[in-house]
Amino acid sequence: MTSPRLESDSAAGTEAGVYRTLLESTRAIPWRIDWATMQFTYIGPQIEALLGWSPSSWLTVNDWADRIHEDDRQKTVEFCVSQSQKGVDHEADYRALTADGDHVWIRDVVHVLRRDDGSVEALVGFMFDITGRKQAEDKILQLQRELEVLSYRDSLTGVANRRMFDTLYPVEWAKARATGEPLSLVVIDIDYFKQYNDHYGHVRGDECLRRVAQALDTGASRSRDLCARLGGEEFVLLLPATDEAAACNVAERCRKMLKQKELPHARSDVGRLVTVSMGVGTMLPGAHDAPDVFLDRIDRRLYRAKAAGRDRICDADA
Ligand code: GH3
Ligand code: MG
Ligand code: MG
Repeated sequence: MTSPRLESDSAAGTEAGVYRTLLESTRAIPWRIDWATMQFTYIGPQIEALLGWSPSSWLTVNDWADRIHEDDRQKTVEFCVSQSQKGVDHEADYRALTADGDHVWIRDVVHVLRRDDGSVEALVGFMFDITGRKQAEDKILQLQRELEVLSYRDSLTGVANRRMFDTLYPVEWAKARATGEPLSLVVIDIDYFKQYNDHYGHVRGDECLRRVAQALDTGASRSRDLCARLGGEEFVLLLPATDEAAACNVAERCRKMLKQKELPHARSDVGRLVTVSMGVGTMLPGAHDAPDVFLDRIDRRLYRAKAAGRDRICDADA
């Protein structure tokens, strides 16, 4: 079977020949469908190099539809048919199936040819291979998602960072207000960490921060609990739907987890291991309460724990 061809001359020197040479040497693939019969009257021979289907195998509009990826087929066909019926030029992006079972992203740009009386005579168009562009777009989306994940994570310890806490705290606060459930905070600071760094050096200081973060992250174990590094050697646990007694249990559990790690601290004034001090508190947020004020209050409890000798939990104001 011979492929559908542009009418007239094949001699490259004639006007039609010039047009055909131009059409068939461009990377875009030209085609023409007769509206009355829904048959291809032309498709550029480049189609075979792109999709593997010979030009002669493109007979009717069904051959086109059948070679659209299943997930794109219905949407694409419906859109192109409705636009063509309305006589509107249009373009569609879809995955075209290749003869070897793969697919190629195509942008089909369609122009509706009308007769003088306005009736549709034919559709003519160009298929562009946009696979490279789609792959680049997918890559960008994937990178954006990865970046989003990374930008909420503390790169040193792997737990959430301050940005994550700042984003989630007001959300959990609003939720606690709406549900009437208690919201608890634990603010944590490593004891004598400056001495630790001075004695062991920054690299081991960093490693110590990772181990402490691990202990805290394991201690705050419910799925909605958040363990975040606020900065330096300071961490916070955000504990939704957690009352005071439960929050104190979480804080105690974290201290136990840390003790079990037995991280030596030769320069601590409170013992031979790395320890932390903690401020704990619980809130039933009301209309006149503010999240910042609550966080400040728990922070002051942390400093009471420091002042009272460190390696302890403070859950009350002065
Ligand atoms: P306190 O018991 O009162 O909390 O005393 P401290 O020494 O722990 O507190 P201070 O604020 O005086 O020192 C905190 C130290 O934490 C200072 C700095 O050397 C160390 N630090 C902060 N961020 C990092 C970090 O990312 N890596 C390392 N290795 N050290 C850090
Ligand atoms: Mg500190
Ligand atoms: Mg400290």
